[in-house]
Amino acid sequence: MTEKFKKSIPLSEFTTIGLGGPAKYFFIARTNQELMDAVKYSNSLGIKFFIIGGGSNVIFSDQGFDGLIIKNEITGFELIDHDGYTELVVDSGEAWDDLVEKTVSLGLSGIECLSGIPGTAGATPVQNVGAYGQEVSDTITFVEGIDLESYEVKKFSNDECIFSYRDSRFKGKDKGRFFISKVGYRLSKLNEPILKYEALNNEIRLNHGDFDLMERIMKLRIIRETVLEIRRKKSMVVDKDDPESRSCGSFFTNPILNVFEFENLKNDYNSELRTTPVFVNEEKVKIPAAWLIENSGFSRGFSISGAAISANHTLALVNKGTTSKELLELSEIIRESVYKKFGIMLEPEPEIILT
Ligand SMILES: Cc1cc2nc3c(=O)[nH]c(=O)nc-3n(C[C@H](O)[C@H](O)[C@H](O)COP(=O)(O)OP(=O)(O)OC[C@H]3O[C@@H](n4cnc5c(N)ncnc54)[C@H](O)[C@@H]3O)c2cc1C
Repeated sequence: MTEKFKKSIPLSEFTTIGLGGPAKYFFIARTNQELMDAVKYSNSLGIKFFIIGGGSNVIFSDQGFDGLIIKNEITGFELIDHDGYTELVVDSGEAWDDLVEKTVSLGLSGIECLSGIPGTAGATPVQNVGAYGQEVSDTITFVEGIDLESYEVKKFSNDECIFSYRDSRFKGKDKGRFFISKVGYRLSKLNEPILKYEALNNEIRLNHGDFDLMERIMKLRIIRETVLEIRRKKSMVVDKDDPESRSCGSFFTNPILNVFEFENLKNDYNSELRTTPVFVNEEKVKIPAAWLIENSGFSRGFSISGAAISANHTLALVNKGTTSKELLELSEIIRESVYKKFGIMLEPEPEIILT
């Protein structure tokens, strides 16, 4: 089967941040069967493998990957009408934003605020992709996974996925264990779209005073367009003409503090902490990592060599002609500075593959 694998393929061409040395072997899978054949073959020979979708949340080392990279290009989707809702069931290599566009144009609500997020549908459950007040865990009906050791197919209910903020069982206890082959999303032809995110709501109402009087489908279009507009301003839409978008999106997750830690932070920095805390639940508060970074002495555009904090978004680290090593060094400098000032250790959001 190795004759089907390409050799020595630069991973920088398959990651949105444009970093990463060569993959020893590289294979594009267009069906689940092809993907599983490649996995079984690698397992039988003891070759390590790693599955990527759009490469928008992963950083490979400059030395590359000493094994097989399997790129998922398995596409297909269907819409199933149920009593009171429509289920979007997709094969995992479908491009996420194309699906959002399609559902919005069909007047289906549920994932419109997740417009402009790069990558594949199959990766969305992994870190419970979210933005502008929606997370995929709000709509996921099931996730189908193929066990990469036993090759058994397993169907997980939403509860079984153990979703939380930028997390799930597929990023936690079952990291790397399952290939996510299908995902179902519960959408609606009837429900009015809900705008939970204040800044998005304000922006829409500022530009569309008659928003409440509009037809649902028009509302969905406006939400999608506004989200895309906001994201473009922050270079959060991958665009080859925008060098600030050569990133993995947010490099750090927003830390979650318990209420005591949050009260201490407020007492120490009340005059500066001009931010509305987001309560995850009664005991936990999510605080903006961007605020911590900016108040640890870093500003947008800060760079060391070609590794930079985006000029348009404090949370994004950008490749402006750098290496993975230098970019990760910058991230460590930021983490250490934030820790020194606030006692809070920022956690990287992308998966970092160093071997
Ligand atoms: C400009 C930009 C903006 C972004 N904005 C957001 C945002 O607003 N919100 C957000 O949550 N994220 C955001 N991201 C991060 C990223 O787009 C998402 O995490 C996305 O879901 C990753 O999809 P991917 O196909 O590119 O995954 P990859 O980067 O290819 O893989 C990421 C991880 O998921 C695993 N994986 C991928 N596919 C599968 C599969 N089928 N089965 C099992 N494991 C799999 C990989 O092994 C790897 O561990 C942004 C990224 C960029 C570059």
